[in-house]
Amino acid sequence: MHTRVTLASPAPIPDVALSALAHAQVRAWEAPFGHVVHEFLECDDPESLRTRLRADAGPGVAVGVIDGELAEGDAGLVMCDVDSTFTTTEAIDLLAEHAGKGAEVAAITEAAMRGELDFAESLRRRVATLKGLPTTVFDEVYPRMTLTPGARELVAAVHERGARIGVTSGGFTQLVGPLADEVGLDFFSANVLGTTRREGREVLTGEVVGDIIDRRRKSVDLRTFAADAGVPLSRAVAVGDGANDLTMLATAALGIAFCAKPVTAAQADVHVPFQRLDAVAAFAFPG
Ligand SMILES: [Mg+2]
Repeated sequence: MHTRVTLASPAPIPDVALSALAHAQVRAWEAPFGHVVHEFLECDDPESLRTRLRADAGPGVAVGVIDGELAEGDAGLVMCDVDSTFTTTEAIDLLAEHAGKGAEVAAITEAAMRGELDFAESLRRRVATLKGLPTTVFDEVYPRMTLTPGARELVAAVHERGARIGVTSGGFTQLVGPLADEVGLDFFSANVLGTTRREGREVLTGEVVGDIIDRRRKSVDLRTFAADAGVPLSRAVAVGDGANDLTMLATAALGIAFCAKPVTAAQADVHVPFQRLDAVAAFAFPG
């Protein structure tokens, strides 16, 4: 089967990382974030090749063994998670810190990570701590959202290839919307924080309005945006760092874990272990 092997790293890729390859059609170049190697080959056992390449390349190199349409063709759509993927920050933490509820929210997050709460319940409880905050909090917190290095470069690279890029987020439209506008994303989806008027000012109700963007919904968003863009899932790439991104990563033709926890990294097709989001372009486009 036609297969593309792609390796990407901020540092030069060591020769040992390539020892499993035949060097028949190797293309190597320097990208803004570092170094990329592509090799195109025939491969009937991509899983074994991936395991071997990962072991040879070591923990600092992102390794992809890509078959199907993306082996030789461009991705048509790239869908990213936001918190700790497109941004280095987590929106709920920024809002909670601003409200003086940082410790309370961190305790709920930890309970969720221990498996005591599911994502939707933990989100509801964390959002409840924001009740009564004036909506001016969004203007104050927005500048503290920090783009991941390479995020703007990834948007530019995707648009240069005529493809689309957007985000789906367990964060909030009131922050993700302005971010999407600022960096020129083609679409976004996020939770809506409820607001109401109290004593002449607009405040948060402490509730999420409508469906919660959870693990299942992120995957549905990917399907919806791909269908809207006329891009088959066989040409879709998804990127995320968390367990709630895993269904979306599995739905896309290529699922990329980004600076992820081991459980997410292990289940994705590719893990980018260094903090440059534009490395995604090396996997989404064959060069
Ligand atoms: Mg995340």
